[in-house]
Amino acid sequence: MPNYYQPEIETASREKILEIQNDKIVKQVRHVYDNVKYYRDLMDAKGVTPDDIKSVDDIKKLPFLSKEDLRIAYPYGLLGTDLKNCVRIQSTSGTTGRRVVAFYTQEDIDIWEECCARAIVAAGGTNEDVCQVCYGYGLFTGGPGLNGGSHKVGCLTLPMSSGNTERQIQFMMDLGSTILCCTPSYAAYIGESLAEMGYKPEDNKLKAGIFGAEPWTEEMRRSIEKSLGIKAYDIYGLTETSGPGVSFECEEQTGMHINEDHFYAEIIDPDTGEVLPEGEKGELVFTSLDKEAFPLLRYRTRDICVLSRKKCSCGRTHVKMSKPMGRSDDMMIIRGVNVFPSQIEAVLLKEGYPPNYQILVDRVNNTDTLDINVELPPEQFSDKISDIQAREKKLESAMRTMLGIGPKIHLMSPHSVARSEGKAVRVIDKRKLHD
Ligand code: ADP
Ligand code: ZN
Repeated sequence: MPNYYQPEIETASREKILEIQNDKIVKQVRHVYDNVKYYRDLMDAKGVTPDDIKSVDDIKKLPFLSKEDLRIAYPYGLLGTDLKNCVRIQSTSGTTGRRVVAFYTQEDIDIWEECCARAIVAAGGTNEDVCQVCYGYGLFTGGPGLNGGSHKVGCLTLPMSSGNTERQIQFMMDLGSTILCCTPSYAAYIGESLAEMGYKPEDNKLKAGIFGAEPWTEEMRRSIEKSLGIKAYDIYGLTETSGPGVSFECEEQTGMHINEDHFYAEIIDPDTGEVLPEGEKGELVFTSLDKEAFPLLRYRTRDICVLSRKKCSCGRTHVKMSKPMGRSDDMMIIRGVNVFPSQIEAVLLKEGYPPNYQILVDRVNNTDTLDINVELPPEQFSDKISDIQAREKKLESAMRTMLGIGPKIHLMSPHSVARSEGKAVRVIDKRKLHD
């Protein structure tokens, strides 16, 4: 039986959603134009005025904002209200090296937490659940966002933050956690640690996990579901738009519903900026429809995905986005071939390896090299060199089929690749050092 946190809006008719969006965008563009000089200048330069924006159809007339703009405008240049109205800042985790600082009014926080509450309820959460939040707390949005959502749903919330895996497991077992929130790489690590401590998947009381903040494959999902004995739900978001909860999965697990009453999504061609029709793959762009303190219009996320308005069996009517296959800047160009870390992860898990790996890219004698360190599954650990070499060859050939280029595989003993407690660092590209 599907359940909703805000049924009226989550299952509203398409007409109703459009009406809400049209109403909000007119006010939001006016708000930004009047209060954010940086964006007003961009609009003026493009010759667009607030009067030109009468509905969401007109959003395409507005200029884009990019991470570069956020850097230029750091820290206060995109603030949409007096600082005295703001109650919080959060900051990006700096995965791509540049930190972004986002501001929130209390109203912004309430909406953000409601979005996270929708995700928790979609994963089956109620006030009878014990929700263990092991995303990092602090500047990173993961912990505070899910913490707030869990309170709104009325779950007993365990604000664990990330790390100290033994304590995580002790609390999980002693207090009977039923919902686990963390990055997928940390969930995999917790699953592995539970097994090493002698627990079987059915020994814990977990029923669902809400995992996001980094790309993860379907293969990874199945592996986590098996090791923890749960259903694993994806959740997506970014600091620039508030944090986690911009979109979330329902029980269908075929994409994440975007909270369209708060965020308007477009897919564009990353090279030309042209808006692409539904179903085409491209860069995701968000316009926040009602944020007061950090109201970004047409923000280019650099995340590559597809939108779908196909009817969903859960009864939600909001558009769905596919799992982002990684950001456009995660894509590695190796010997002229485009390679995403997620493709490598998919092959590894399909071939029966654990999700503990690291990708090393370098340039030797003007040729790109791709090396992948992968752990052997503990039960298949062998010290016979010929066994290991045969396995390496087999994996190299599976990789070549998937990627179009052949990496060098290095099988390693269990536990030799560092585990992640937050966002995993999968790629080390040494070419950047030479450039
Ligand atoms: P940073 O840009 O420093 O990582 P954030 O913590 O705000 O800062 O991370 C937001 C980014 O994380 C998104 O733009 C996206 O690339 C990635 N992300 C978040 N959730 C998911 C998810 N469910 N699947 C894939 N990528 C995700
Ligand atoms: Zn659904």
